[in-house]
Amino acid sequence: MDKTNLVKEAEKHLKFLCEEIGERRVGGEGNRRSTEYLKTIFIESGWNTEETLLQVMDWKTNGATLTYEDRSFEVFSSHYSLGCNVKGELMAVDSIESLEHSDIENKIVLLYGKIASEQIAPKNFPFWNPEEHQYLVSLLEKGKPQAIITATERNSSLAGGVYPFPLFEDGDFDIPSVFMKDTEGEKLLTYDGKRVSLMSEAVRIPETAYNVICRKGSNAGKRIVVTAHIDTKIGTPGAIDNATGVTVLLLLADMLKNYQGNRQVELVAFNGEDYYGATGQRKYIQQNEGRFGDILLNINIDGAGYKDGLSCFSVFGLPKDIEAATEWVIETSDGIVEGLPWYQGDHSLFIQQNCPAIAVSSDWFIRNMGNQEITHTSKDNLSVVNYERVAECAEGIVNLINRL
Ligand SMILES: [Zn+2]
Repeated sequence: MDKTNLVKEAEKHLKFLCEEIGERRVGGEGNRRSTEYLKTIFIESGWNTEETLLQVMDWKTNGATLTYEDRSFEVFSSHYSLGCNVKGELMAVDSIESLEHSDIENKIVLLYGKIASEQIAPKNFPFWNPEEHQYLVSLLEKGKPQAIITATERNSSLAGGVYPFPLFEDGDFDIPSVFMKDTEGEKLLTYDGKRVSLMSEAVRIPETAYNVICRKGSNAGKRIVVTAHIDTKIGTPGAIDNATGVTVLLLLADMLKNYQGNRQVELVAFNGEDYYGATGQRKYIQQNEGRFGDILLNINIDGAGYKDGLSCFSVFGLPKDIEAATEWVIETSDGIVEGLPWYQGDHSLFIQQNCPAIAVSSDWFIRNMGNQEITHTSKDNLSVVNYERVAECAEGIVNLINRL
């Protein structure tokens, strides 16, 4: 396929994923339509295709309200939280020390300030789980409050561009919670010790989702595993995060449909990178236990195709020959530069298994991760995508695979 057609194909896939479907939260209908779309194209392009069923939790809310007498405050149901309809004494807590010394049983706890400064890792999240977070969760669970209100400020490096962000986004944490802006939390502080009413009309719904995996090439050789997550956070069409990555997989399926190299190429659409359960990633690790040694290289695409700047390939633990091939690809592609190291993506799971890895992303995004307001918001739509960058990523990866 020539470049013009490749760019057109990229645009077609991206319009389907971001505009016809939009949000692709794990467990949602849009997510299943997206994996179905991939499966169909993989099969049509002659790949040996399988889908892996995942038991996941979908989640919905009809909104939340917080009131003291006739005064009301703007709150939002924390994603994946249970709902509630409770009345109780408001108790404000701004540090772990004060939480340790407070009797919060049956209270409605307001977490604000330092204790609410960064999103808390989901209880059972396998890839990142700081001890302070686990300690906070255990203090809250032991304390048995009726519900939790969290007041959060802007923190784009940890929660994307979302403000306010849910401090808890965890379908395994069973204390109902809502979140609000830090400025709204300051107003609420005046009512510390008063009896407030909190209602959150949120429900968890057991649902299904799928990983889609397809393979081509010789079974005898080592595998090249190309990955991209297909899920989005709630409330975003996820263009850069990560419809562009999925689109690169779709372009590769077509560009490599006659691949007959001595490697096995495996394309994986993961379901769960932006989901508390990381269900698809865990499933893949389980399925590949004892077989990560067969992986020659992981190429993970996440955050690619941003409108400003070039694409970047960040390398992790490459052996000499793969490093040389990657350098050649970078040198011969106008649109690709070597990227800084970053770890907030699915390549990390391969790195943790000692596999060499390359993360494909946008140079601008990696450099501005901590001060952009696009990720995980409605601003992550097709207006921030450059289709040519997406096509160039696919070309770069095909060139690399053919050279290995
Ligand atoms: Zn992502």
